[in-house]
Formats: sequence, structure tokens, C-alpha cells
Amino acid sequence: MTSQIRTRFAPSPTGFLHVGGIRTALFAYLVAKQANGSFILRIEDTDKNREVEGSADHIKECLKTLGIEWDEGLDAGGDFGPYIQSQRLEIYKGWAQKLIDAGRAYADPYAPEEVQAFREEAQTNKQAFLYRNHRPENPPVWDGTMPLRFKSDPKPYEWHDEVMGNLHSGPEVIDDFILIKSDGYPTYNFAHIVDDSEMQVSHVIRGQEFISSQPNYLNLYEALGLEHPVFATMPHILNEEGNKKLGKRDGAKDVLDYVRDGYLPETLLSFIATLGWNDGSEQEIFTKKELIAKFSLDRVQKSGARFDEKRLLWMNGQFIRRLSVEELEKHIEPFWPEAALSADEDYRRRVLVLVQERLKTFADLPVLSSYFFVEPEPDYSLIEGNKQLKKLSSAEIKNLLSNTLQTLETTEWNAQAIQVSLNKLLESTGQKPGILFSLIRIVTTWAPFSPQLNETLELLGQRKTLERLKQAIS
Ligand code: GLU
Repeated sequence: MTSQIRTRFAPSPTGFLHVGGIRTALFAYLVAKQANGSFILRIEDTDKNREVEGSADHIKECLKTLGIEWDEGLDAGGDFGPYIQSQRLEIYKGWAQKLIDAGRAYADPYAPEEVQAFREEAQTNKQAFLYRNHRPENPPVWDGTMPLRFKSDPKPYEWHDEVMGNLHSGPEVIDDFILIKSDGYPTYNFAHIVDDSEMQVSHVIRGQEFISSQPNYLNLYEALGLEHPVFATMPHILNEEGNKKLGKRDGAKDVLDYVRDGYLPETLLSFIATLGWNDGSEQEIFTKKELIAKFSLDRVQKSGARFDEKRLLWMNGQFIRRLSVEELEKHIEPFWPEAALSADEDYRRRVLVLVQERLKTFADLPVLSSYFFVEPEPDYSLIEGNKQLKKLSSAEIKNLLSNTLQTLETTEWNAQAIQVSLNKLLESTGQKPGILFSLIRIVTTWAPFSPQLNETLELLGQRKTLERLKQAIS
């Protein structure tokens, strides 16, 4: 093994890439980057039944969108290719032959029904089914049409996992697993060990679903005469309640869907990194640069990490606030409401600056800004549904609005002067801001939420503000 840090992300092209997969990729990326090492992308496509067309391209797009660049592997080249497992079949055969020659692999002669019978027999005897209890005495010569099995050497193991700590297992979990299937493709169990070794991977960072197989992998490393890499097992990502593994129904959607829904890639990166990891301080938001500097496997928690979409939303708002106008304009382009597209560019920019701190996702833009570009449809439920406003009679409302109209008619039109007028109105009407300002806000925007009132009115312009007040009064 080289002393250089080399990590890999080795997805199977079986569909969409959810946050769990991306987190594994991100952690592997961070471990490599902070040590000036290499991050490798390898495609594990040896299960042809589960393959979904277009997945590999999709995986690449997700990684690129989030800025998880790979140094080696798919499309990037490198000294240890090919980086697609289905193109490495000869390599696996070569390693399989070594095992056969050493008496550590054999052809599996049984028909599925026979194996099923063994299984049932074990069940009747209340024993765990172990294939190695049925090793054929004189196995046929392996011709590639039968599965090739590993002849295991059952023994206890102790090993260290960078996240899970010191682990151990007994000989009873070691069994003769399949190395190469009857369709000629290797199993994951075999192929990843060959590849990680050939590609000089120093750290294997992967999901929790593989941890129970670890003793078997250790057994195979030994049989192949290989030193094993450092292992780091990622805890599961749990649903919001924290009581089960995150599934599609809990929002385990494709990361690109989040981008389409108005999330920043930077947010997703920071959010995903903090699923089960923190730097030991109170810091909640990290840029990629900070993550590279601060990440460490020993601060990844062992227990499952809760996927909290509200935190994601909050975090996105924080990241949006940090954007310069130019960056914001670039990201928000596809989210402008129709009517804004023909508006003056400078006016649009002013609207954007005003709503920036209210945006949680870019998709909030139409609700927050449409009333600057088109006449809004009055929505009286906004008044009726408002706890304070619904207590007022329509005569009281009319009266408040008439006073407002009168005052604003003679107000000089800038945010400061508008605020002075609004404050005077509070005094003269004896109302609380929660009532008066909400009312004015609603009838001038007809939106469920909007930015600071005086600034909104300033930008809306005096003419439109007065018109909308008049309309509401009548
Ligand atoms: N191909 C495996 C998967 O997609 C990768 C496991 C690993 O990282 O070794 O789940």
C-alpha cells in the first residue's frame, strides 16, 4: 500500500443518487482532498439485473453539480483503469485463478433446488445455514458456467473502523461466498476487494449495509495475500423522527431535484456534510473549503443521523443571504415569474436585493416578488385568516386604510420618509404595528409574506401604492 491517501466512490448504476450516497462520496472526497490525495470514481456495474440506464451519467452530473470533483476514474483517466467493473472481467478472472490454484476457490456444482434443500435442513435443525457445511468433496473443474465460490477459513476477527471503533466477530459469520456468478460477472464482495487493491485505495469509506460482511472480506484479503485498507463505515441516515432509515417517502429524493427546487449546491454540500458530522464547535454552516480543512472521520458519529428538512431550508436561506447580487442573479434566473421577464433589468435587480433575505429557496421568488410586476389578485383570506385583523370590522378597516391613503398621498417617496409617515399613522390611529402594518402590507401586495414594509412600498412606487390602497377601500 502506498502512503498516499487514495479514496474512492464506487456507486452501482442502479438509479437515482440520494443524500446517503452523496454523503459517502463527499466524505471520501474530503478525506482525499485534505491530504492532497486522490479521489477516484469507479462504477460497479456487475449486477446487470439491477442496472438502470443513464445512472452513470446521472451520478456524474450530481457530483459535478455539488462540486465533488474526482481526480481519477470515470472520464478522468488514471493509471489503474478501466474504472468500470464490467470492463475488468479479465482482471477478476486472473485473481480468481490465483485462488483456484491455491485451493481457495471451487466451482459450485449445486442446482438452486439443492441449495434450497440444505437451507431447509438447517432450518429444521434450528441451525444457521452455512454453505461451507456442504462443500462438495470433488468439485468439478470451473469452466465459467457455474458460480465460483470462495473456500473460506472460518476464524474470529478483530478490526478497527475509523467511525465505528474496534469491532470483532466470531468464526460462525464466515462462509463460502460467491466470487464469480454463473453469468461471468464477479460479485461486489469479490470485485471491490480486487479493485481497491489494484487501484491502491487507502481508505474504504462506505455505507453501513456492508459492515456485517466485513469479516468475510477480511478472510478474503488474507486468502489473496493482501493488506486491507483503512475502513470507515457511515451510519445510516434516518427520517426526521429518527426512528427508521430514510426512505423515498421521507424526502430521500434525488439531490438534483433539490437544485431544481431552488436549493443551492453549496447548501446541499454543507447540509449533507453535517448529517452525522460536526467539527466539535457550534458551527452549523460550512463552505467546501472549510469542510476540506476541518473534516475528520473520527468526528463522524456512530449512530444514525437525522434528516431534518427544516434545517436544510433554514441553511439554504443562510447561504442565499451570503450571495452577491451577481451570484444571486445567476442562480435565480430560472425562477423569475413570467411578468418579471419583460421588466426593466435595474428594477428587477432592486426587487431581488429587497427580497434576498426572505428567500429560503429560489422557488420562493414568485410569491415574494410577483406583486412588483403585475397587479395582484386580492385574496381576502389573508385578512380573514390573520388572527389580529379578523377582529376588525370592515368599517374599521376602511377607516384605517383611508387614513393611510391620506398620509401617504403627501409623503415624499423614499423609504425613510415612508417609515416616518407609517410611524405617525401608528400614533394617530392608536394601532399596533402588528395590525396596521400587516393590513397595509396585505392590501398593497396580496402576498402571504413580503419584505420590510417601507422598502416594499418605496420600490412599488407611490402611484401603485395609492392605487392599491384606493382599490382596497372601495
Ligand atoms: N457499489 C456499492 C454500492 O453502490 C459500493 C459500496 C462501496 O463503496 O464499496 O452500494
